[in-house]
Amino acid sequence: MDKFDVVIIGSGPGGYVAAIRAGQLGLKTALIEKDKDLGGTCLNVGCIPSKALLTSSDHFHFAKKEAAKHGILLDNPRVDLSTMQKRKDKVVKTLTGGVRQLMKTNKVMVLEGMGSISAPGKVLVKSSSGETQEIETKNIIIATGSMPIELPFAKFDGKTIVSSTEALCFEEAPKKFLVIGAGAIGLELGSVWNRLGSEVTVLEFLPRIALGFDLELSNLLQRALTSQGITFHLETKVTGVRVENGRAIATATKGNETLTFEADKVLVSVGRRPFSEGVGAEKVGVEFDEKKRIKVNKHFRTNVEGVYAIGDVIAGPMLAHKAEDEGIAVAEILVGEAGHVNYDAIPNVVYTYPEIATVGKSEEELKAAGVTYNVGKFPFTANGRAKVNLTTEGFVKILADAKTDRVLGVHLICADAGNMIAEAAIAMEFGASAEDIARTCHAHPTLPEAVKEAAMAVAKRAIHM
Ligand SMILES: Cc1cc2nc3c(=O)[nH]c(=O)nc-3n(C[C@H](O)[C@H](O)[C@H](O)COP(=O)(O)OP(=O)(O)OC[C@H]3O[C@@H](n4cnc5c(N)ncnc54)[C@H](O)[C@@H]3O)c2cc1C
Repeated sequence: MDKFDVVIIGSGPGGYVAAIRAGQLGLKTALIEKDKDLGGTCLNVGCIPSKALLTSSDHFHFAKKEAAKHGILLDNPRVDLSTMQKRKDKVVKTLTGGVRQLMKTNKVMVLEGMGSISAPGKVLVKSSSGETQEIETKNIIIATGSMPIELPFAKFDGKTIVSSTEALCFEEAPKKFLVIGAGAIGLELGSVWNRLGSEVTVLEFLPRIALGFDLELSNLLQRALTSQGITFHLETKVTGVRVENGRAIATATKGNETLTFEADKVLVSVGRRPFSEGVGAEKVGVEFDEKKRIKVNKHFRTNVEGVYAIGDVIAGPMLAHKAEDEGIAVAEILVGEAGHVNYDAIPNVVYTYPEIATVGKSEEELKAAGVTYNVGKFPFTANGRAKVNLTTEGFVKILADAKTDRVLGVHLICADAGNMIAEAAIAMEFGASAEDIARTCHAHPTLPEAVKEAAMAVAKRAIHM
């Protein structure tokens, strides 16, 4: 086999996007994936299947609780979970098949198997049937992603104590569903099963949900999810989970109290850890940080010549679009281009109802950094389209530098916040001021008009408030 310009280990959004960009740039590229399907966590057991279930369960919620308000009378809507799951699986298959097709289009060689660096410039591929081959390459990109964190006192058994992977595939809605950890994954999957009929309880060690988001958003989201029927126990430390006769019993402490929770299924969603086992990084002397993430410089280069890393396996938010942008950047860097990822403008979304979406700094972060800022807020109760849609819950909050008016953070909690955050990310990428957004014409009647109004509110000149 000829020598490759670049071999990428892992076909998630980091790896496969790097492969496409490398192919476009004329590099002789190979992509190694240990699993049957390409696309990594995101396409197979992450972003895509979770959003498929969120959409389907939201339609069910609409049919049951909202349709009548629009004058649509549906008698006794019910769920056919098997069809719902099959639809989700079909979406996943279509997209993973699409990635395989893109590899062909961009002349990327796909090798099935576990990839490990045997020496600088050499990668060993071991297929599931045990065959091995060694390939030579000028450059290696490690894009092996992440794995769910397991709690030592609540080990995954795949049936009763589960990770997000299994919680995406239940064949029936558990009667009682316990979620440990109130981050994006716990809140999204808690919402799915709550909408589909489970009694959902979320236990969180911290005094708040959705860490990493502006506190005002987290607080309103907690209120909204509580009103939808989800029970939260904050500042609650889970100390053990045991399984008896197929049911889980979790114990926890909250202050001086000891609490016990029974459930049919327990989702442990306390975060993800970088996955670099078996990739041979240590063998060639690649350095790791204190969180076992691969250390890279701003060009994604490790301390070992010709070895790069991107995505969840390095520092930064564990998000598919961050991995994708790094994939594009690293391929461009390999051909001598600049490569660009702006870590100050990476949006983050939780796809509950309402959705929360954020880009830039929160108020807590600005206060901690001693930055003076102005706040512009606009509620969806004053937005025409939200009234039309019956989605008036939530607000837009824009934080702008007090001296320069430059936008420092945009925070949305509303229906469709995940789509709406894009304009804020573009504004921040281009260093916009709040006035720039305020003077940009927004179509009427739309939800994004609330972003414009919030930008005007920074200078205390919102129109509809
Ligand atoms: C339930 C859930 C929902 C999520 N929702 C969102 C969302 O809505 N938006 C968002 O931005 N992010 C979301 N994420 C996070 C997102 O999936 C990850 O940030 C993203 O997939 C990381 O991409 P990656 O390329 O770094 O790694 P991964 O997608 O994890 O891909 C790594 C790939 O490498 C392969 N691999 C590992 N080691 C080897 C080896 N030695 N040889 C060969 N192959 C190997 C793995 O099999 C895997 O296919 C979600 C995650 C989960 C679990």
